[in-house]
Amino acid sequence: MRILATNDDGIMAPGLAAMRKALALMGEVTVVAPTTSQSAVSHSISLNQPVLCHRIDLGDHTEGYGVEGSPADCVKLAILELMPERPDLVVSGVNLGANLGVNVLYSGTVAAAVEGAFYGVPAVAVSTGSGEAVDFEGAARIALSVIEQFIQCGAWHGALLNVNVPDLAAGPPAGVRVVRQSMKGWDETWEGRLDPRGRTYYWITGKPEAEDDGADTDVSAFAQGYVTVTPLRFDLTAHDRIEAMRGWDLRL
Ligand code: MN
Repeated sequence: MRILATNDDGIMAPGLAAMRKALALMGEVTVVAPTTSQSAVSHSISLNQPVLCHRIDLGDHTEGYGVEGSPADCVKLAILELMPERPDLVVSGVNLGANLGVNVLYSGTVAAAVEGAFYGVPAVAVSTGSGEAVDFEGAARIALSVIEQFIQCGAWHGALLNVNVPDLAAGPPAGVRVVRQSMKGWDETWEGRLDPRGRTYYWITGKPEAEDDGADTDVSAFAQGYVTVTPLRFDLTAHDRIEAMRGWDLRL
């Protein structure tokens, strides 16, 4: 099995190293990842500048491709150019920090998996909660058991998997749950300060909202200590609106 491993935390991130080592049990792993942190760049791609690509020594006698671009750039470049054959699986992560609720839409980690799914490749985004001592190896091991079941399903047209592992340093997970994506985001605030030249600048900050919109969501299950597994679609159409809108009086 040919596996493409990527992330948005950068090619030297420990979460990617842990995922790569776990995936090596399943097949031949090619690492193509951003050279710098690309967290929260969502599904951006580079159109106005060239995308530099370097062979990078990952230690333990392996090399990867470091890409000066976004996670979506990495997957696009890997599939269309760098890998001699199309991968059988794309895995993005393990990301430092959970990707739940509307944060899924900001996530570079998830976007890389979405990009793989664009090409019809089974794709999984893996993230873990950020604590004091993050156990990426443990998170990767748990993700691997989910991935092994996922690939037995064959291709998912237009869909991918989003896996979030709670902070394992806080104790073992309560279990694994298949849940829908919450529509909740963060309780955000902007902190305004003055720079040394007297100019105002802002930095966004916040914390997950305490109230969730339902018990069967990724946000609430994760808060209760569960590993969450959510199938995602990149078709953003509000299918339930189409029939009613056909009755609109739309004409030129
Ligand atoms: Mn990240």
